[in-house]
Amino acid sequence: MTLYKLTAAQIREKFVSGKLSAEEIVRYFIERAKKFDSQVHGFLKIYEDRALEKAQALDEKKKRGEKLGLLAGVPVALKDNIQIKNEITTCASKFLENYIAPFDASVTNNIEKEDGIIIGKTNLDEFAMGASCEYSAFGPTHNPWNLDYTPGGSSGGSAAVVSARFAPISLGSDTGGSIRQPASFTGIVGFKPTFGRVSRNGLVAFGSSFDQIGPFTNCVEDVAMIMEVLGRPCQNDSTSIQEPAENYLSAIKQSITGKKVGVPWGFIQAQSEEIQTNFNQALKKLTDLGVETVDVDISLQKYAIAVYYILSTAEASTNLSRFDGVRFGKRAKSAKNLTELYNHSRCEGFGAEVKKRILLGTFVLSAGYQDAYYRKAQKVRTLMIEQYKKAFATCDVIALPTTPTTAFEMFSMQDPFKMYLQDACTIGANVAGLPAISVPSGYAENKCPLGLQIVGPQMGDSEVLRFAYHFQKNSGVAGDIPPLFDKEEK
Ligand code: GLN
Repeated sequence: MTLYKLTAAQIREKFVSGKLSAEEIVRYFIERAKKFDSQVHGFLKIYEDRALEKAQALDEKKKRGEKLGLLAGVPVALKDNIQIKNEITTCASKFLENYIAPFDASVTNNIEKEDGIIIGKTNLDEFAMGASCEYSAFGPTHNPWNLDYTPGGSSGGSAAVVSARFAPISLGSDTGGSIRQPASFTGIVGFKPTFGRVSRNGLVAFGSSFDQIGPFTNCVEDVAMIMEVLGRPCQNDSTSIQEPAENYLSAIKQSITGKKVGVPWGFIQAQSEEIQTNFNQALKKLTDLGVETVDVDISLQKYAIAVYYILSTAEASTNLSRFDGVRFGKRAKSAKNLTELYNHSRCEGFGAEVKKRILLGTFVLSAGYQDAYYRKAQKVRTLMIEQYKKAFATCDVIALPTTPTTAFEMFSMQDPFKMYLQDACTIGANVAGLPAISVPSGYAENKCPLGLQIVGPQMGDSEVLRFAYHFQKNSGVAGDIPPLFDKEEK
C-alpha cells in the first residue's frame, strides 16, 4: 500500500469510495511517522489515541450514511503554535512546555468540522521567530532531502512532515516567509493567503499585522481543497475578511493563457547566479503556457527587511508581554517578589532569539525612538503597499524566487543578519498583506529543491493558485519525493 504517494484529494477519495477506512489511513500515516520521524524530528507530538478515536468516529459516521466533509479521512499536521483544546501548545518554547490550550483555534475547528483528522503537532523556531527551525527549544528539524541541512523556518516541522510524506497536508504560519521559505527548501507547495483570509483566532500571536496561517501540500489542488475549508469568515478574529470562502478548486482550472505576469527584473538581477538561472527556467515554463511578462517596479522591497524587523518586533514585544510568569506557562520557582517573578520566568522560559526580538521591539516603541523607527517604518510600509498596487495595475500576478539562497547546512549560518536576509524575497507580501505561494521549480547544485514564488494583489488568492496550478503541471518536478523517504515503513 503506497498510500504515502497519494495527494490529500486521492486519500479522501479512497475513504469516501470505501476502499480504505479512516482508521486504516490514520494508522498508516502514524506508523510511518513513528518509524521515520526520528531522522527528521518534524513532529513535537503525535496524537495516536486522539487521532484514532476521531478516525473510528468518522468510520461510524460513514456507516450511518451521513454526509462526509471536504477533508474526510485526510490526516493533517498542525504547527505547534496553533491551538487544540485540552492539548499542549508549546510554540517550541520552554515557556509553554506544559501549557494546555483552553480552546480550539478556528482552523482546528474548521478542519475537524470537515472530517480532517489531526495527527500531530510540528516543530518550529521558538514563537515562529527564525528561518531554519534551529531555534526550537526542543531541538532542530532536519531537511528530508539532506538530513544535514535545515528545512528552513519557522514552520520547518510542518514543511518536513509533508515533504517526507508523514502527512499529506500540514498548516504553518507565515509572518515574514515562514510558510514559503521552508516549502521551497523541502520541495513542496506552501501558501500564505491574503492577510485576514484565514482566521488567526487560536494562533499564538507573533506580529499580529503580519501573521497568517496557511497550508503545506504536495500539489496546488490540495491547497485549493483545504483553502475552501480554512478561508472562511470568523467572528472571533476582528481582522477576518467577512466574505465566504471562494470556490478555489474550480477557479484554478481556468486557463492562464493571455494573462500577464509581472517580473521585477531589478530585484531578480540582484540575486545570485544560481537563483537567477532557476528563476529564468521557471519563468520560461510559464511563458510556454501563453503568459505574457511585463517589467514591474517593486524597488521599495529593499526596505522590506528593515520595515519588518522594526514593526514585527514591536508587535512581538507587545504580544509576548502576556508571558509574565503569572498567567501562562512557566513560573520561576526562585522568585521572591513580583519583579523577580517576571524576570526569572522570562529569563528561564525564553530562548536567545526571542529575548533579542523583545528587546528590539521595546526599544523601537520607547518614547525617544518611536518617531525615528516605529512611525517611519509604518510610513514606508504604506509606500510599499502603494507601489505593489501600481505594479498590479499592469499585471495579474508577480513572479520572483522564493528564497535568495538554497537550503543550507544546519548551524552554518551564525550571522543573525544573514539569517534575517533569508526572507528578502518573501517579506514584501507580508508587509503588504498579499497572497503568495511557493511551488517547486527544480534543484540547486547541492541537490536541494528550490521554489518559484507567485504573489497576487490583496484578495487575489484564487488567481495566485491558478497560476501555481498551471505552473506546477508544466514544471516537470511536481510531486517529487525525497529519495530517503520514498519507501514503505517495513
Ligand atoms: N524568518 C522571519 C523571522 O524570523 C519570518 C518568520 C515567520 O514568518 N514566522 O521573523
